[in-house]
Amino acid sequence: VTIAILAINNFGGHFVSTVNIFSPAVIAIVLFLVGAAALLREGPEDARSASRALAGLMFFAVATWIARIIVIIVYLAGTTDIQRVDMVISLFAILQMVSGVGATLALMWVDVRLMQAELSRIAHTDALTGLPNRRAVLLRFQAEAANAARRNESFGLAVFDVDHFKQVNDRYGHATGDIVLQETAGALGAAKRAEDVLGRLGGEEFLVLCPAQDSRQSREAAERLRSRVAAMRIEHAGHTLQVSVSGGVAFYPEDGSDWDSLFSAADARLYEAKKSGRNRIVVARAGAPAGDL
Ligand code: GH3
Ligand code: MG
Ligand code: MG
Repeated sequence: VTIAILAINNFGGHFVSTVNIFSPAVIAIVLFLVGAAALLREGPEDARSASRALAGLMFFAVATWIARIIVIIVYLAGTTDIQRVDMVISLFAILQMVSGVGATLALMWVDVRLMQAELSRIAHTDALTGLPNRRAVLLRFQAEAANAARRNESFGLAVFDVDHFKQVNDRYGHATGDIVLQETAGALGAAKRAEDVLGRLGGEEFLVLCPAQDSRQSREAAERLRSRVAAMRIEHAGHTLQVSVSGGVAFYPEDGSDWDSLFSAADARLYEAKKSGRNRIVVARAGAPAGDL
C-alpha cells in the first residue's frame, strides 16, 4: 500500500511532498505497534526483560514518528527557513538512529537470553529420557533440603536401578535397551506425585525426591513406583519385554542432611535390595528402626 501511494504521488503527475514524508510512517507505526504489543503479551518467557526493553524501544520509535509528523505539520508548515527545516529533520534522524540501534541491541539481548535458556535446558536435561539429569537433580536436592530445613519438614530420597539391565542390552541390543530406559522413565513419571522430582542419575539409575514426606509415605511412594514398573509390558520388535527396578530410600533428616550422606544411605539400601532378590524396596538396613519392606 505504501509503495503504491508513493508511486502514485511521485509519478502520477500531482506531487505532494508531505505524502512522501508521512505515508511510510503509517505502515511502520502500525507494524511496530502490533509487534510491540505481541512482545509484551506473548514475548518469550525466557527473555522477559529483554522483550520489554525491545517493546519499549519500538514504542519510542513510534512516538518519534508521530512527533515528527506533528512537528512537520505545526512547526514547518509553509516555512522557507531552510535552517529550521534542517534542524528538525536532523533531530528526528538522530532520534530514529537511537531507536534503531537500541532496538537492534535489544533484539540481540532477546536472542542471547533465549540461547542461554536453551543451553541451560540442555545442560540440565537427560537427552535419552528428557528427565532432569544428575546436575539438575543435585540442584533440586539442594533447594529441597533448604526448604525442608526452613519448614522443619522431612523428605524422602529414593534411588532406583533397573534389574539385570545388562541382559536386556545383551539379548535385544542397545537400541532396545534405550527404549526400555525411556519406558521405565515414563512409568516412574506416571506413578510419582506431581510435586515429586524424578531424574536420571546416569546409566539405568533413577532418583526420586519426595518433598514433605515422612518415612512411611516415602516408602509407600517408592513401592508404588516399583510396582508400576513391574506391571509395565513393553512391546517392541515382536518381543514383549518386562523389567523391574530395585530401590533404596533414605530420609532427610534422619539419614543425613547433605547429598553425600543421604545418597550413600539410599545407595546402600539399593545394594541390600539387589542382594536380597531384586524387584523390591529397602528403606533401612535390617534391624534399623525404619524397617525393611
Ligand atoms: P543389576 O540388577 O545388578 O543392576 O544388574 P544390571 O545388569 O542392571 O547392572 P549393570 O550395572 O551390570 O548393568 C548396567 C548396564 O546398563 C550396563 C550398561 O551397558 C547399560 N547402560 C548404561 N547406560 C545405558 C544407556 O544409556 N542405554 C543402554 N541401552 N544401556 C545403558
Ligand atoms: Mg546400575
Ligand atoms: Mg541395574
